[in-house]
Amino acid sequence: ATPTAILVACGQAAARGILFRGGDILEQTGRIDLVAFDKTGTLTHGRPAVTGLYPLGGDETELLEAAARCESGSGHPLARAIVAEANRRGIHPPLEAGAETLPGLGVVLTGDRDEIRVGKAELAAPDTVIPGLSPDAGETVVFVSRNGRCLGAITLADDIRPEAADVIAGLRRAGIRTAILTGDREQTAHHVAAALGIDSVAAGMTPAQKAEWLDRQKQKGRRVMMVGDGINDAVALATADVGCAMSGGTDIALENSDLVLTRPDLRRLLLALRYGRDSLKIIR
Ligand code: ADP
Ligand code: MG
Repeated sequence: ATPTAILVACGQAAARGILFRGGDILEQTGRIDLVAFDKTGTLTHGRPAVTGLYPLGGDETELLEAAARCESGSGHPLARAIVAEANRRGIHPPLEAGAETLPGLGVVLTGDRDEIRVGKAELAAPDTVIPGLSPDAGETVVFVSRNGRCLGAITLADDIRPEAADVIAGLRRAGIRTAILTGDREQTAHHVAAALGIDSVAAGMTPAQKAEWLDRQKQKGRRVMMVGDGINDAVALATADVGCAMSGGTDIALENSDLVLTRPDLRRLLLALRYGRDSLKIIR
């Protein structure tokens, strides 16, 4: 009769938008003692906005036009924000389909006449100092270069989800540790972690490094859940004991996840953990 009880619990959870890919996932969720969150789109809304343009030498329009052209085919939240800001200023770059995405780093567009890079300093502008650039703790910085020459930097900010602090507090009360895993810079990650009371921070990580981090936690005997929205999280989601994808995420994230929250509301995570823990109490 107990497998039936598990099935019933999965059904009840599903009715509340919490999809467990099987009864074993429900039970594994009950044993989780560490939850690692992706930042962009998971702890934050994933709808960043451009907050500043820092052209190096040239003008703002040249900087934004190049960035938007390079990002025009990307679905990344930062890419959308840059294209939206360009459009707002009357700049409508042609859609470039050939750009290459380097997960956790940025985008490279190799065109007929030029090569444009948008992303982290190491990708687009190694060792470049941009006068006047002193981003707030919460801001993300992306650099733009054309043919190896840095055109400047763009800062962006993304709001933290309103329910996130309550959810982190709820996890703490349940005795579950929390971590933030992000490709974004140290300061931005620490800003979010401090605002929410998250226990540990791993910043500047590539998707592969996120997976390695999760693996190390597993080797230490932790039962780890990774919560992500997509784009770069597929490997991490697959590596965690339980990979949890929030809806609004990309298809690849949904495919690699064990648990899907069908609405972008982190409170459902607490509910999912409760379903998991209750399932362990069902007498076998
Ligand atoms: P997170 O781990 O917070 O989800 P990502 O792994 O998607 O962040 O990206 C990490 C960092 O890589 C970003 O903060 C940005 O600096 C850079 N980056 C990634 N994708 C892009 C992009 N399409 N355009 C510009 N920068 C990008
Ligand atoms: Mg992400």
